[in-house]
Amino acid sequence: MHTPESPNMGVIPSELSDRHASVPCMAIQAQHETHAQMLEPLAPHHLSLDSPATAWHAEIREVVENAIRTADRSMQSEIGASEIGTPCTRKLVFKLGNVPVVNQERAEWYIALGTAAHEWLATVFAMENMRLGFTRYLIEHQVVAGEIDGIELGGHLDIYDRVRHSITDWKNPGDRGMRRARQGPDATYKTQVMVYGLGCENAGLPVREVNIVSFPRLGTLRSINYWHAPYDRNVAVEAISRASILRKRAKQIGYAELAAIAETQSDYCEYCPWFDPATRTHELVYGRCPGSQEMITERELVHVPPKF
Ligand code: SF4
Repeated sequence: MHTPESPNMGVIPSELSDRHASVPCMAIQAQHETHAQMLEPLAPHHLSLDSPATAWHAEIREVVENAIRTADRSMQSEIGASEIGTPCTRKLVFKLGNVPVVNQERAEWYIALGTAAHEWLATVFAMENMRLGFTRYLIEHQVVAGEIDGIELGGHLDIYDRVRHSITDWKNPGDRGMRRARQGPDATYKTQVMVYGLGCENAGLPVREVNIVSFPRLGTLRSINYWHAPYDRNVAVEAISRASILRKRAKQIGYAELAAIAETQSDYCEYCPWFDPATRTHELVYGRCPGSQEMITERELVHVPPKF
């Protein structure tokens, strides 16, 4: 997948390079200015020559944070391939119920880095297609794996290799994520690539293997982690079936009721959109979760007063 803004296969490589080369001119186009107008002194009402540099620093932060918050990726509401494989049933119920997030106020820089890395890789492999003289790689290709009781499940896969009949998903983890990646991907990541595989199958593209390639956010390319497995459509089919059953059940008894009784399992709770450590397990508020039992126990242990 990743970001809907990323170039897709319909964008030819020369357009990609034009797009990147023209970045400094985007502001001019947006304001309908000519090159000459851009170099003219600005009108006095635009100027703030007395403001301190710190005001400019705050502005930089605001522009970047706003861009991260409003990126399509952060605003995605329908469930996607990257979410359906969560081991936490409550999280899946919240997602299926389109419950407003309570834990995504911070605009995280790593999200921007991940988006930039995906866009760069898309450009690089588009260039590689051009060098080869044929389309070996389908890039950011949109696929549909199936339906969850009326909701279409699919997404944009990172790379489909027409030579190897393989799917590859890029990850861009930090140090902790790289350590986890070396132990093999979790259920969420495995399911994601299998869902893309099913989507490819549905589109008539043969699939033999799936890969997850983790480029370290820090460090060198020597630390890249590669994982691969034979494609297994059952993983995707079972994930769709699990989500469909939950959605039907939620329609019968209500999302809030289902979320309250749904099993929980740690799935990076601190990053979970519905994590709220102030919530109490015995008085659950719909759309908020105190975290997995493991996490709650840990918190309680920390707060137990010492015995003398
Ligand atoms: S906070 Fe943790 S336990 Fe709660 S819904 Fe999210 S992933 Fe599940």
